[in-house]
Amino acid sequence: MTRLLKHPTIDWKDDGTPVAREAGDVYFTAGDGLAETRAVFLKGCGLPEAWAGRDQFTIAETGFGTGLNFLALAELWTTYRPSPAAWLHFVSFEAYPMTQDDAARALSEWPELSAFSDRLLETWPAPVLGVRHHVWEDLGITLTLHMGDIHEMLPASRLKADAWFLDGFSPAKNEDMWAEGLYGLIAQRSAPGACIGTFTVAGSVRRGLASAGFDVAKAPGHGRKRERLEARLTTPPTAQPDAYGLRAPPSASPRIAVLGAGIAGASAAWALTARGAEVTVFDPAGPASGASGNPIGLMMPRLDAGDTVQARLLIDAYLAAREAYRALDGAHETDVRQIPKDETERVRFEKLLADPPLPLEDLEAISGGGLLHKRALIVEPRKVVTGLLKGIALKAGPVEVSLAECSVNGRSYDAIVLANAMGILEQIDWLGLQGRLGQVEHLTGAADVAPDAMASGHYALALRDERLWGATFEKISAGTLPEVSDGARKANAEALQQLSPWWKGDAKRYPLTSRAAIRATTSDRLPLIGAVPDRDAAIETFEGIRKGRPADADAPLLPGIVMVNGFGARGFTWGPWAGQIIAAQLLGGPSPASVQALEAVSPMRLILRALRRSEI
Ligand code: SAM
Repeated sequence: MTRLLKHPTIDWKDDGTPVAREAGDVYFTAGDGLAETRAVFLKGCGLPEAWAGRDQFTIAETGFGTGLNFLALAELWTTYRPSPAAWLHFVSFEAYPMTQDDAARALSEWPELSAFSDRLLETWPAPVLGVRHHVWEDLGITLTLHMGDIHEMLPASRLKADAWFLDGFSPAKNEDMWAEGLYGLIAQRSAPGACIGTFTVAGSVRRGLASAGFDVAKAPGHGRKRERLEARLTTPPTAQPDAYGLRAPPSASPRIAVLGAGIAGASAAWALTARGAEVTVFDPAGPASGASGNPIGLMMPRLDAGDTVQARLLIDAYLAAREAYRALDGAHETDVRQIPKDETERVRFEKLLADPPLPLEDLEAISGGGLLHKRALIVEPRKVVTGLLKGIALKAGPVEVSLAECSVNGRSYDAIVLANAMGILEQIDWLGLQGRLGQVEHLTGAADVAPDAMASGHYALALRDERLWGATFEKISAGTLPEVSDGARKANAEALQQLSPWWKGDAKRYPLTSRAAIRATTSDRLPLIGAVPDRDAAIETFEGIRKGRPADADAPLLPGIVMVNGFGARGFTWGPWAGQIIAAQLLGGPSPASVQALEAVSPMRLILRALRRSEI
């Protein structure tokens, strides 16, 4: 199995209906797709009546295909949205994504949906394993696409669906998808009373649903089909323990304080505001003043050779960041030539090029064993951070926080997002964040050029008349101030020599400005995103882990306190992804990341790991 997903081969019937050649089945019934969607799935799940009076409603689907079901649903939602503050969450699973061109051709059949389909096609998912999350803020819709085989992606998903569209080709032609294990997984991800609509009445589907706790009934079919199925969850399965603190209780329209106006805080504020929260951002020094304040910066992917949780979440975060910044001022598409910095990296590049995790539009081999990253970004951090914070209340000056009372400067909030890097509060210094001093060199006044970037451990960037290169990544002791040094400037000059950019001469010709900042890093190099545990209570709760017992209880959490931190040198990559995870956790709705990813970045992982290793 390759890391890139395979596009299906589409044959087009004379009437324009797409057929997946490998599966030998149609995406929808010839000439009747939209009417069928409305009858089988929308009506079959009792929509729009089922969402009347609801603040949020979640629908999941097996098989995204052309996206037709989603588009018909989006149209219904905009007509019958229960209130201007209500949200519809749509989650779908897809192992063989159509190309954008095929999807566009299939959807051109329904010009009446073009306002929605044009929008969907703009961010049509590439065949990249992982989770893509899109927010249609103006319509109150989120779309979460789990790209990969449903039997792998469904267990890794976090959602509670109120309704399901089961739409994965016919069970006779696509037995794998409808395998026995599917129904229990669906039940676990369903809210009590969840309903299901599907076109098939196959015995195996009926039995599978019934054994998973659904009441199943046949209903009159649409068009030439005699029957279809409707089902309702009457016996929900018991909830699993939440050892990583992923299940924070959401509030409906909360007031949230965000501490820190760097890229972490700005992205959290942006994602929370998009979802309708009332957000105030606090930063004594104002926006983008710390590690996010370099004049220009590079946002490129970090690609791992194997298909690991970490490799996937790095790609998910990169794609989320790229989408978020494209809509803002201060993000410039660029190619990045990356030359292996040592033998280990050379071997890693070789392996990943043998099984690339990104398509050719994004990644190519270059001579000398290097990578050409296409469509990466040079960002102007201040512009991006200011863009994310647009319209959000921002308070400068001193900040007094009480975690116990969930208050800032004497005012209580429904939640506090700690995004203050090394300004982390004493009560949670057990997180063990390590400061790293990073220095970059910058000049202006050179010849105007198109964006260009090189990387090899260090990096060198050119944007308009600016050039920037660096960065050092020095271990420092607590309390060290971010001061520039000649030593770091020298190290950067040597790195520039190695990188050998075409504008090296500019570095001698124009006056340089050095800038140093401290980046917060964690021991495993993954960020800290999620609910903050009550450490003492957590150690007591999970004591048994030391003796090899499983972590089978809910994590004790500090009520209302979440964090986004430990971004290291990749702040602009982690930001939007982290913000959307926090938004889903605090405001409800399906998670925009896999369970494994959420666990890998959860603050609680540090306690569970330390207990396993008997370090605490
Ligand atoms: N709901 C779609 C629409 O609105 O266009 C039509 C879905 S089509 C009938 C079935 C979809 O299921 C296909 O896109 C197919 O690639 C996908 N699929 C089939 N087997 C799968 C699997 N094991 N995991 C995930 N998706 C799968």
